[in-house]
This record gives sequence, structure tokens and C-alpha cells, in this order.
Amino acid sequence: MAPPTREQCLELDRHDPLASRREAFRLPEGLIYLDGNSLGALTVGAERSVARAVGAQWGVDLIRSWNVHGWIDYPATLGERVGRLIGAAPGETLVCDSTSVDLFKLAAAASLARGARTQIVTEAGNFPTDLHILQGLAKLLPQVEVLAVPRERIYEAIGTDTFLVVLTHVHYRTAEMFDLAEVSARAHAKGARVLWDLSHSVGAVPVDLRGAEADFAIGCTYKYLNGGPGAPAFLYVRRELQDGLMPVLSGWLGDARPFEFQDDYVPAPGVDRHRCGTPPVLAFAALDGALEAFDGVDMAQLRRKSVQLSSLFIELVEALPGAGALSLASPRDPARRGSHVSFAHADGYPLMQRLIARGVVGDFRAPDLLRFGFTPLYLRFVDVWDAVRILGEELAARPDDRPRDTPRLKVT
Ligand SMILES: *Cc1c(COP(=O)(O)O)cnc(C)c1O
Repeated sequence: MAPPTREQCLELDRHDPLASRREAFRLPEGLIYLDGNSLGALTVGAERSVARAVGAQWGVDLIRSWNVHGWIDYPATLGERVGRLIGAAPGETLVCDSTSVDLFKLAAAASLARGARTQIVTEAGNFPTDLHILQGLAKLLPQVEVLAVPRERIYEAIGTDTFLVVLTHVHYRTAEMFDLAEVSARAHAKGARVLWDLSHSVGAVPVDLRGAEADFAIGCTYKYLNGGPGAPAFLYVRRELQDGLMPVLSGWLGDARPFEFQDDYVPAPGVDRHRCGTPPVLAFAALDGALEAFDGVDMAQLRRKSVQLSSLFIELVEALPGAGALSLASPRDPARRGSHVSFAHADGYPLMQRLIARGVVGDFRAPDLLRFGFTPLYLRFVDVWDAVRILGEELAARPDDRPRDTPRLKVT
């Protein structure tokens, strides 16, 4: 069957139940943004919220804002709102620090509770910070060993020495997705806990942490949640495990009564004990406004559109005359794929730079991946069609027309 025409894509947009969500975003005219999986677009809500926090709050109410504008409760109140998107119960999610730091915090706390077990199992080729943070933790705790194994050997690697399994739900390169419930069940059968990195999942695929009996989770809010560059991360601790988990970064705001200024740390009840220091309020304000774009969104509907967009992209790309130079690096089966698609190409970096110069923004992951993210709240089917047309033109450009050694920028 022939791939859809541009007219058919416009027709899909006319019947898209999420189409009006695009109005919540500020998107530059003429740009096709396929990198919302790395830095989400600016929302009208975030812009307003930051302006309010700076002008009316900081500028007028000054320090009273901690109480009257709820600044001090931001980690918990935004935690509840993110928690609703990942299937958490109230009191299980906190927004604070960065994803890397939250991983350290939860893995270190789980290490304190490990008993006689010594091993953390993770995936070789996991996102570098996940591996590096665990390697640093193992330096601090020489009895702890980090075992990084290929995906197909994870189940056999989980043994009676394993206390923690650390995995990324949707892989940052391939978008391949783990089955949360199945991994949890396998790990629990061996007496191990699982810590999920949801950076490429939250806001893009439905996640049901409680349903999957997940133990711990962390993730970014600047990707599909559009919280802004460097937005604070979130962490999740299943309620049943909260009392047994003691923070290592036991900062004053994770104390039960911080404003009594006592010498000795007493952990706050519940997930609040994983707060550390003063939250960056302006960054929280941006996330606060950005999350409005998700108010009332049916995640099953969002997932349907995500699958339609990424499947359309694959179909159109593979129908290009120059498609022989590309090979799909993501699962073809949409049930096993998150919301981005990667294609390998021998000259991936210069090719992506040419696409960006023509207003199609994706990114490049060394050594050879072109990565394209599909954000159902603001992308249209016709955007996918137009992006693939431009990709086709660039693939067809004669080699002489291509710059040979495009210098690599710091951020690719
Ligand atoms: C983006 C990403 C991170 C980023 O961590 P930061 O501390 O925000 O830099 C971590 N893990 C995964 C899987 C990611 O995709």
C-alpha cells in the first residue's frame, strides 16, 4: 500500500482529538520540532507562571512568598501532579534536584538497606549518567558491585546477591521499552528491588507504577513534560517502602521539623525526607505552568497519537528513494517502542545538521544515530510528512553538495 499523502495527513490532523493542545505551546513559525524528547517546547503556561513568580511573587511579596505562594511546598505539590502521570498514589512522588542526583539519592538509600546483598544490576549501554552515578556509588561503598549486562541477560543476572536493579524504561537511543510489571515480578522473585529511570517515558507513554508494583523511580521533567532547560527532576518511592528508606543526602529540608533548627537529623515522614536543600523556585514555577498542558489529557489517547506519529514517520522514511542509506534502530513493533525513532546513517552528524538548518530539528547520538522525537501534544501529522520530505531531499543531495567534516558542537 502506498504511504499516506500530504492531503491524507491534513485529514488526520482535522480529526485529531488532541489537535487543540498545540495552542498551549509557543512554537517558532516554520520550525518542525522533533526534539521534544530532549528539551520540550515552551508553553504559554510556563511563560506566564515564571513572569508571575518573578514579578508579583519575588518582586512584591519577597520572602513571604515561601508561605503565601506555596514555594516551600512546591516539591510536594508538583510531585502530586507528576505522580498522576506515572500511576503513583498521593504521597509517593517528589519533584527535586536533578535526575542524576535523585538516582544517587535513591540508590544510596537502597544501599543502606541492602542487608547482606552486594550487587546492583543494570543494563550495559544504559544512559551514561545512570552507569556513572552507580560507578561513583560503588567507589564510596567498596562492598557494592555494579553489574552492567546486555538487555537479554538481565533476568539471569538478577540473583540472590542482587539488592537493586536499575533500568531505563524507554531506552534513550533505540526507544525500546521494558515491561515494568514483568521486570518487577522477576526482580521481586529474587528478593531485589527495581529503580526505574522514566526520563523518556513520562508524558509520552502511559506508566502505571503502582499497578506494576514498582519500587523506586526517577525521571526528567524537561523532556516530554516541557518543564524548561534544567527543570527539576522527580523521584518516586512506593509507599510501603518509605519508612525503611533513609536518605544519605539528609539535608535540612528533608528533616521532620526544619524550622526548629535541631542539630540531629530526624527524617520527615514519607517521601518528603528525600528533599535536600532549598528548591530553585523559578525552575519550579516554569514546570508548574508547563504541566497545565497535561491537565485533562487522556494518556491512552496521547499514546495512540504517539504510536500513529512514529509509525507514520517510519513508513514514510522507508518509502523514500534514498532510504537504503538508513537503517531503523528502533523496534518496528510499536508496542515495544516509546515515543522517539532512531535511524542509523553513516554520515549521521552532518545530515542532522543539514536537517536542522532547514528547520527540521532532531538530534544526533554518537556514533551514527539520527533521533527524532514525537510529542503528541504539539506535533501534527502534516509536520511528520513535511519533515520526511525534507529528509528525502537531503538524502538525495549529491555527495559533493555535502560538507565533509562538519565540526561537532558541544551538544549534539
Ligand atoms: C535525559 C536523561 C537523564 C538526564 O539526567 P540529568 O541529571 O537531568 O542530566 C538521565 N537519564 C536518562 C535515561 C535520560 O534520558
